[in-house]
Amino acid sequence: MLKDKVAVITGSARGLGKEIALMYAKNGAKVVINYSSDSSKDNAERIVQQIKEMKREAIAIQADISNHIEAKNLIDEAAKAFGTIDILVNNAGITKDMILLRMTEEEFDRVVAVNLKGVFNCTKHASRIMLKKGGSIINMTSVIGLAGNIGQCNYAASKAGIIGFTKSAAKEFASKSIRVNAIAPGFIETDMTDVLPETIKENALRNIPLNRLGYAEEVAKVALFLASDLSSYVTGEVIRVDGGMAM
Ligand code: NAP
Repeated sequence: MLKDKVAVITGSARGLGKEIALMYAKNGAKVVINYSSDSSKDNAERIVQQIKEMKREAIAIQADISNHIEAKNLIDEAAKAFGTIDILVNNAGITKDMILLRMTEEEFDRVVAVNLKGVFNCTKHASRIMLKKGGSIINMTSVIGLAGNIGQCNYAASKAGIIGFTKSAAKEFASKSIRVNAIAPGFIETDMTDVLPETIKENALRNIPLNRLGYAEEVAKVALFLASDLSSYVTGEVIRVDGGMAM
């Protein structure tokens, strides 16, 4: 479905990003793995190796996407390596949960810088390259951006911001054949949710009609749909992948 397309996936050495990168490679894409922490370098290299074993091309690039210059370097290096960029998945994201009364300015600023400004940084640089022949941009928001959540004012604000950003960018770029969509996952099993206490997971389960947490692969399948021609008439959309949690 993505034969010879070039895809950049931010935060793809683990979690949802890793699953999306593998799914894209399986479907024929050349993949750029991005990571920010030194501790994710080995993981990133392992995924590159795994993709090469599928006889597909991949490289790993370290960049903190909240930094405008590092995000530019990521996109420039990716385009230099593979000649163009067809797909950008703005997946990287963090949480720093705290009730609002105790939330520090640093906790608010950092979450917004990575989750929202990171989307601006990468989209701005990559869209310039996509102007020539179109492309697909997929932004990872969250059901928390739709519904809010106690202890997550910073995260919810960043994810709601991504939805407004997605719709505005979709309108701006539609005439250039660049589609911009968002995925809003619910409760998916990754490092981000592993750290949550059992009581929170049990509470969440009660609100999920499908009665289980989601798997990263289930988000990756929707990311594949949005990246491919199967969604050629879909732009400015937010697709929930949440087992019915936020309906
Ligand atoms: P995760 O396992 O915690 O992985 C987060 C990824 O983001 C890591 O690859 C990390 O890179 C990367 N990252 C963090 N800060 C970065 C920065 N400054 N620059 C570049 N990369 C950075 O999280 P996940 O569960 O896979 O979540 C992926 C996305 O889905 C996030 O945007 C998250 O908000 C969203 N989401 C997740 C869920 C869920 O239930 N899991 C639900 C809704 C939305 P390093 O490895 O280098 O640290």
